[in-house]
Amino acid sequence: MAFTEEKLQELLSILPDKVKKARKKHILVKDSSQPDQIIEANTRTIPGIITNRGCAYAGCKGVVVGPLKDMIHIVHGPVGCSYYTWGTRRNKAKSEDPTQNFINYCVTTDMQEKDIVFGGEKKLAKLIDEVVEIFKPKAISINATCPVGLIGDDINAVAKSAEERHGVPVLAFSCEGYKGVSQSAGHHIANNILMDKVIGASDKEEAPGRYAINILGEYNIGGDAWEIERVLKDIGYTIVSTMTGDGSYEELRHAHTADLNLVQCHRSINYIAEMLEIKYGTPWVKVNFIGVEGMSQSLRDMATYFDDEELTRKTEEVIAREVARVQPMIDQYRKVCEGKTAFCFVGGSRGHHYQGMYRELGIETVLAGYEFAHRDDYEGRHVIPTIKTDADSKNIPELHVNRDEKRFRVKVSPEKLEELKKKIPLSEYKGMNFDMQDGYIIVDDLNHYETDEFIKLLKPDIFSSGIKDKYVVQKMGIPAKQLHSYDYSGPYAGFNGALNFARDIAMSFATPTWNFIVPPWQDQPLLEGKMAEGEGKAC
Ligand code: SF4
Repeated sequence: MAFTEEKLQELLSILPDKVKKARKKHILVKDSSQPDQIIEANTRTIPGIITNRGCAYAGCKGVVVGPLKDMIHIVHGPVGCSYYTWGTRRNKAKSEDPTQNFINYCVTTDMQEKDIVFGGEKKLAKLIDEVVEIFKPKAISINATCPVGLIGDDINAVAKSAEERHGVPVLAFSCEGYKGVSQSAGHHIANNILMDKVIGASDKEEAPGRYAINILGEYNIGGDAWEIERVLKDIGYTIVSTMTGDGSYEELRHAHTADLNLVQCHRSINYIAEMLEIKYGTPWVKVNFIGVEGMSQSLRDMATYFDDEELTRKTEEVIAREVARVQPMIDQYRKVCEGKTAFCFVGGSRGHHYQGMYRELGIETVLAGYEFAHRDDYEGRHVIPTIKTDADSKNIPELHVNRDEKRFRVKVSPEKLEELKKKIPLSEYKGMNFDMQDGYIIVDDLNHYETDEFIKLLKPDIFSSGIKDKYVVQKMGIPAKQLHSYDYSGPYAGFNGALNFARDIAMSFATPTWNFIVPPWQDQPLLEGKMAEGEGKAC
């Protein structure tokens, strides 16, 4: 693909100089002859540029905390923040105890003018009392929105006194929307509180079974976690907790008892993964459960870690059975997809994960990027020591944990760990750029103008992103696949998910709709005329 630096300069030339200079640093043309290609990421959004980004509240309540089903999540703020996150992220949940599944509720203090003027603490305290009386949840979260920090409501003090009043844990998340530069700040804030107040809160010292694992950064969109768990349980794993899709406050308390942490979405949960390793000695491995190859490789990496003959045999047996079942059908869908190209621009991890699945369908991802990832998600974790925190992210607290002398267990000897690191991605993530081909484009915080221009230049066959750009792109006659909500389909993870994804992508191409975009009278004139003899003009 002939996309050059010159073309990129031309594309950006319409922008004011200051903006052009800033945006240039967020766009790369992959070139493996330059081993250390640096991309700028996790910096302030340019005002007025029509970004796809959300806020810290969305990253905290909407992504990490909200899926915990046995908690009531109070949104402290005016009604909008709560309303627009009500059921819009498809983190499914079911519970054996239907009185402890609050996933369908939307609970807010609905702040009014007088709460802004006189403070909203009393209203919040009263709401907590009502919530305890009506729902009797296992725990409660308070999620701060923009005005809360500005007017100085002390949500920590309200949480503490409510906890004393009711004996129910109340967690306060200071995730005001203006903190940091994107959803990412909210992930970090959520990780800190969950690690500090929930994980390890139970007195259990042992996991309830063999090969005990936590699944981190898996939010059960469209049932993804259920499909992953189906396969893992079949192999023989004990799942201690899932963070946080279909997860619960109750199971999160035991997460310290696991022998291995799996990290699916690196961006949103790597903080907890690191802290679990320091505090309890639990190593983590980067997995990718998207695509038949990704799923199979991740299962094999897990078996390598546990190094157990029976587990390895069962792993291979399950992989063989599942691949034999889904691959022939995926191969049929591949015939419709082969040779096409895609854009893959999604939050903080899917921009990478879905490229493998596209490749399995014969589709090349020619442009990819993230809304809110950091440099390590693009370039790999080895760049972390070189990342400087700028003024916009300095207000996100860093939580530092120490070894828990009583509970820290050496799961695998240091020598064995070093040996394993050569075989599997233990405490390691190589990032998205590593997997992209030369000449392909990597864009951080893609905006509306760049979306339009890149589409005109590269003419992708499918555009995968979110709801905000879906219809813009479809109006250009290009199929668009939402990789946040899956267009209300799914699961897309695991073996069954790979099959669902292949079917949905093939359907996007095969639908006859695209043949009807241009009205017939524009490309096939309905009237025919003949030159009348001797007249010399058409009639
Ligand atoms: S930016 Fe502020 S007002 Fe907007 S959704 Fe986030 S918390 Fe609510």
